[in-house]
Amino acid sequence: MTKLIIVGSGILGLSVAEYLTREMFQGIDIKIITNNHKFSGSKAAAANLATKGQMFARDPHFELKLHGKKIYKNWIHNLIKEDNCSLSIDSIFKNGEGIDYFTSINNRDKHYLRVKQDDNLLKKRNLPTNSILKIDENKIKYLDESWVDAQELLNILKNVLIKRGVLFEANDFCQKKYHEIMIDKNIAHLIFCTGAWTKSLLENLNIQLPLQMTKQERLTLGSTFFGDNIIQNFKNHFILSEKISNDLKSKVTFSGDINKTFISSSSLRIKSIHDMNMEELNSKNNIILELAKNFLEDSPNLKEKYFYNSNEISQLNGFRVGYGHTEIILDKLNISESKIKAFVCSGAHKSGYLFAPVIGRIVQNLLFS
Ligand SMILES: Cc1cc2nc3c(=O)[nH]c(=O)nc-3n(C[C@H](O)[C@H](O)[C@H](O)COP(=O)(O)OP(=O)(O)OC[C@H]3O[C@@H](n4cnc5c(N)ncnc54)[C@H](O)[C@@H]3O)c2cc1C
Repeated sequence: MTKLIIVGSGILGLSVAEYLTREMFQGIDIKIITNNHKFSGSKAAAANLATKGQMFARDPHFELKLHGKKIYKNWIHNLIKEDNCSLSIDSIFKNGEGIDYFTSINNRDKHYLRVKQDDNLLKKRNLPTNSILKIDENKIKYLDESWVDAQELLNILKNVLIKRGVLFEANDFCQKKYHEIMIDKNIAHLIFCTGAWTKSLLENLNIQLPLQMTKQERLTLGSTFFGDNIIQNFKNHFILSEKISNDLKSKVTFSGDINKTFISSSSLRIKSIHDMNMEELNSKNNIILELAKNFLEDSPNLKEKYFYNSNEISQLNGFRVGYGHTEIILDKLNISESKIKAFVCSGAHKSGYLFAPVIGRIVQNLLFS
């Protein structure tokens, strides 16, 4: 029996484990060691599976994410069935339109130029040229957005993994744990799915960093607000809707639908994961939430009127990390003192969720190549 240890139970740790515990992999025994950090990125994510603003030219993972999007619904559908839970697929995953709202035509056009892709490049990659459209005076419409309820997805994944016999150990992965694993002859693989903590953890364990992680690290602390019926007066069904401030520097993102809406708010650049300046984050959040509330005053041309009911809002905070334009760090680690094959698989920036249905297969190729 091959033993595999995954460190971290965010979206990527759980998705990798889900793939490697499918029937065809009988004989792999998986344990997930996790400290369930309350700022684990995934818990704060509303998980907009958006293509907006993700410019193909500079995004090396675009094709992969597009494929992930295509198979998402089916993947979740199968997980719901296996979990035997009563949730409907529609309450967890949706496809549809996304709308950006601007305060002026000028701002809309500036942004359009930024996100609109080059038609020739799109055609070359077999992608539609009309998925980003200018509509009305103040809007840009994105035709192919998707949305997933991050918390529900994590719960279902955990339930399915427990049913399949995966062990969860609630523990902090530290030097002692690492040395225990290094001398355990039954363990063949070790995968760090530790998100924003990965760099500092590897440094603590004296493991050489993957090349991508030697690029400048951008750590942020961010919040997501959510609640039932927090949007009032909103007439349209929506998947994703962003309101952009007049100076184009801030935006507030609404996702989900009227029954369960997420508001993804500001993020604050931080120097290290020990640097949690909640006061500063909360004051930034207040500015963003005011933007959500008062948007109509700044934009008299907007026909839609929606407000949130701030009494009903819950808040979750999380860390996010980025290295250049790389959106996922997937690399072999050099551990010379042991026969164990070790890897990093951690999400960066704001699209970890897009990789969830496809990441397992990629990790499988790395593990068994
Ligand atoms: C406010 C906010 C909004 C976001 N919005 C979106 C969005 O709309 N769409 C989207 O796709 N993405 C979004 N993201 C990003 C998304 O959350 C990340 O891309 C994703 O969480 C990365 O997944 P991960 O599994 O790599 O890391 P994480 O989800 O951060 O998981 C890391 C795991 O490692 C564990 N861990 C860390 N160190 C140790 C240790 N020493 N020992 C044991 N366990 C450890 C943690 O407890 C955690 O379980 C958002 C992030 C934030 C903060």
